[in-house]
Amino acid sequence: MYLPDVELHEAASLDDASALLSRYAPDARLLAGGTDVLVDLKTGRLNVHHVITLGGINQLRGMMSSNDGLRIGAMTTIGELEHSSFLKGGYVILHDASSRMAALQVRNVATVGGNIAGAVPCADLPPALMVLKTRLEIWSPGGKRTMPLEELLLGPRETSLQSDEILTAILVPPPPPPECFGAAYERFALREGNAIAVASVAAGVEFESDMTVREARLVLGAVAPMPRLVESVDKLLAGRRLDESALSAAANVAMEAAEPISDIRGSAQYRRELVGILTKRALLKAARRVEGGGA
Ligand SMILES: Cc1cc2nc3c(=O)[nH]c(=O)nc-3n(C[C@H](O)[C@H](O)[C@H](O)COP(=O)(O)OP(=O)(O)OC[C@H]3O[C@@H](n4cnc5c(N)ncnc54)[C@H](O)[C@@H]3O)c2cc1C
Repeated sequence: MYLPDVELHEAASLDDASALLSRYAPDARLLAGGTDVLVDLKTGRLNVHHVITLGGINQLRGMMSSNDGLRIGAMTTIGELEHSSFLKGGYVILHDASSRMAALQVRNVATVGGNIAGAVPCADLPPALMVLKTRLEIWSPGGKRTMPLEELLLGPRETSLQSDEILTAILVPPPPPPECFGAAYERFALREGNAIAVASVAAGVEFESDMTVREARLVLGAVAPMPRLVESVDKLLAGRRLDESALSAAANVAMEAAEPISDIRGSAQYRRELVGILTKRALLKAARRVEGGGA
């Protein structure tokens, strides 16, 4: 497989990137780490003649933690996220998701922004970020706006970004304290390294002091056209301890909410079964993290 003829434009600023996008749209695509774009160009899934690199825009890099939460620049690599010292307490779910993605070589170039803006249904970070009620910062020449992550994702490889808009940062609000909140991400792939998720589940649970559930959030990955928030889980688990009966009830509603497809990685029925198993594992891991003092 060879890369087709494309003209590479190195944007030096957001204005520059946006001007290039406007000039060449719809025959242009932004390139972050390129781990999706280059594969898509080689396989012919993507057919554009202009590629605009974001690598020279320094303001898209780096992570910052404050009272407002975590700000992750869109060009932060998955590897940088995985090794960040900010991923403590409820943020640990981001370590779960980033450390199990792809392989080291891919994680060192693939970006957080690309994992979200690519809108691939099996992407690992969006479910974990949605559990943490993440918002996205979007820039355009007209100004900045923010929106919940789920509003960006419209369907497989389809986003609500306008043609001159760029995802600049991922804004993760501070989770509740680790003494009462735990979050965990579980995925199943056909092998440990360099394999995309066949199914994944992200869970975030806030507990009362007696370990009954105050609030629960569950998001499924790879089993619907976009990450699926299972809204009914919150009502179902509220006021209950995560015993076998509660876990089975949550697994059942998650399996019902899934809308999996059959492909070479597994049948729809197999994926649905996985959702049940991963739901129980993720909820239990979230609870253990609270019982273990947020570890
Ligand atoms: C071998 C291999 C294994 C992989 N395994 C996994 C895996 O296990 N889990 C997983 O989730 N993914 C996996 N991937 C997919 C890919 O690595 C990730 O989705 C990665 O995070 C994409 O980031 P990127 O920076 O490379 O994006 P790019 O390929 O550069 O871009 C992806 C898309 O996002 C758009 N984009 C990027 N940045 C922005 C921005 N700031 N604003 C607006 N649009 C933007 C691009 O235009 C493009 O449409 C794998 C890929 C490979 C090649």
